[in-house]
Amino acid sequence: MPANVKVAAASAATTRARSAKGPAAKGPSPKRTAAISTTGHCQCRAIEYQFTGEPKWVMHCHCESCRRAVSSAVATYIGVRLEQFSYLKGEPAIYESSPGVKRYFCAKCGSPMAYAGARWPGEVHLFHGTLADPAQWPPTAHAHVTEQVQWFEISDHLPRYAATSGKGAKPMRKGPKRGA
Ligand SMILES: [Zn+2]
Ligand SMILES: [Zn+2]
Repeated sequence: MPANVKVAAASAATTRARSAKGPAAKGPSPKRTAAISTTGHCQCRAIEYQFTGEPKWVMHCHCESCRRAVSSAVATYIGVRLEQFSYLKGEPAIYESSPGVKRYFCAKCGSPMAYAGARWPGEVHLFHGTLADPAQWPPTAHAHVTEQVQWFEISDHLPRYAATSGKGAKPMRKGPKRGA
C-alpha cells in the first residue's frame, strides 16, 4: 500500500474515533482506545512507525521461518490492522520469504521490521523489538511451539499453540514444558 493511502486510512480511523462518542457507548470508550498511540523504529531510526489503539494480539512465534527471519531463537510479534498503522518516517525494504509472505526490513541498518501474509489480509505483524517501549504490550501467547528450539524455554504461564491461535484452536498447554 502506498504511504499516502496509509496516511489517508489512518486519518479516516481518527475521524471515526472522534465521531464515536455519546452516552450510548458502553465499555471502554472507543475515543479513549483510539487515543493510545504506540511508536517504534529500526535500529538506525531511518524508519519510524506508529499505530493507534490496541493490537489484535502479541505473540511469540517459534517457527523455523520466523527464527531465520530474525536470526534468533524466537520472534515476537504485535498484530495490528493496517488502518491502525502508518509510517512516520521512511519505508522498509521487502523480502518475499515464501509465496504471499512479505518480510519488511530496514535497508540501511538491516533491522527486521514486520511481516505481512496473504493468510492475514488487512494486518501487519510488527516485530516487538522495534517498539519504542517494550513494556507497553506484553506477549499474550506462544505460536508454533512444536518447532521450538530444544534448549529454549520461557517460564511464563501463557497458552502454547501447536500452530496459531486462529480458527478456535486450543492451546497444547499453558506454561513451560514439564520439567523445564
Ligand atoms: Zn534502520
Ligand atoms: Zn513464525
